[in-house]
Amino acid sequence: MNQPTPQPPRWERFDIPAPVRSNGGHGHHRSPEPRTGGRVQRWQLVALAVVVVVTLLVFVSALSADSESPDQQQAASTATQDGAQDENSRGEGPVPGEGYQGEFATGELPPGGPYAEKGSDKYQVVGQPSPKVGEGRKDHYTYVVEVEDTVDASRSGGGDAFAAMVDATLSNPKSWIGDKDISFEHVDESALPEGEEPDLRIQLTSTETTHDVCGFTYRLETSCNMPIGNRVVINDARWMRGALPFDGDLGSYRQYVINHEVGHGIGYAAHQGCRADGALAPVMMQQTLSLNNGVLHDINPEGTYGQGDATCRANPWPYPTGGPEPDTETENGIRNDS
Ligand SMILES: [Zn+2]
Repeated sequence: MNQPTPQPPRWERFDIPAPVRSNGGHGHHRSPEPRTGGRVQRWQLVALAVVVVVTLLVFVSALSADSESPDQQQAASTATQDGAQDENSRGEGPVPGEGYQGEFATGELPPGGPYAEKGSDKYQVVGQPSPKVGEGRKDHYTYVVEVEDTVDASRSGGGDAFAAMVDATLSNPKSWIGDKDISFEHVDESALPEGEEPDLRIQLTSTETTHDVCGFTYRLETSCNMPIGNRVVINDARWMRGALPFDGDLGSYRQYVINHEVGHGIGYAAHQGCRADGALAPVMMQQTLSLNNGVLHDINPEGTYGQGDATCRANPWPYPTGGPEPDTETENGIRNDS
C-alpha cells in the first residue's frame, strides 16, 4: 500500500515574513552621542573620553572585589551583547498551568531544553514490534520507529521512550484507529516479506535533517510527512520544546505532532480550520503555529482555514470522543487512501 510516488513533502506550507521577535525591552541600541544637528566639537569628544575612562576605572575597581578577573568579565559581557545565547539556552520553560511568560512571534520555538541541531540522516531502529491495533476493515498500515544517530534521545527518556510514545498514541482509541477502516502495526522490518517496506517510518530527527527534508524557507521549526521513503519526520526541536499553542503541555503536543504527521502519512493531505470559537481544534489544523483561523490565514492567505476569526482549544486527537462522527467539531477532512 501507499506506493511512493515522487511528491513534495507535506509540511506546514506557508508564505510568511521572517518572524519579528518582541524583545521585551532588552537589547536596545543607543547612539553613542546625541545628535545636536551640527558637527561635534573637539572639546565635546575630549569630555566624553574623560567620562568614559573614569566610568571604566570605577567599574573595574568595583569588579576587582569579585574573584573574576576583569578579562573574564569582559568575555562574559561580550558574549551576552553579541546575542550569542543560542536557542538552546534561551529563556525559561513554561510555568505549568500558566503557560509561557513573555511575548513570542507566531510559530516561534518556545524556550526550554536542548535539542539536536546537527544531522547525519542515518537512523537507528528503536522500540519493539507490537500486535496490530484497530480493526483495519480497509487499510492496514505497518510502521517502524527510528531515531537519527545525532539525536540524543536520552534527553527525552531514550529512543525506546520515543517509540513507546508513538505506540501509545497510535493505539489510543481517540487516534486514527477510532475509524474502523484503519489499523496500525509496529513491525520488525527484517521480518517483512522480501522487498516490502514499512508503510511509515516515524523518525525523530535533528533540525538540520528536518530542514533538508521538510524545507526551512521561513525559518520556523516544523515536522513533515515525506512520501518518498514513507517518512514521518518529527523535528527534535519540537519534540523537546513543543509549541506555544499547547502552553507547555509537552505530552499533549507530542501526541498531536504524531497524530498530525501520521495523518498526512495515511492520506489526510489537507489542513483544517477551527470550526467555532472555543471548540477543540481538528488534529489536521496547524496547531504548531496557531489555534486561530485569522492568524493561520495571515501566515498563508492561499490556505483554507475555516470561517471567520475563530480560536480553538489545543487538541491532539482525530477522534477526541472515541469514534468518527462526520459532524463533530473536529472534522478531519478527506482521506486519499489510494
Ligand atoms: Zn500538516
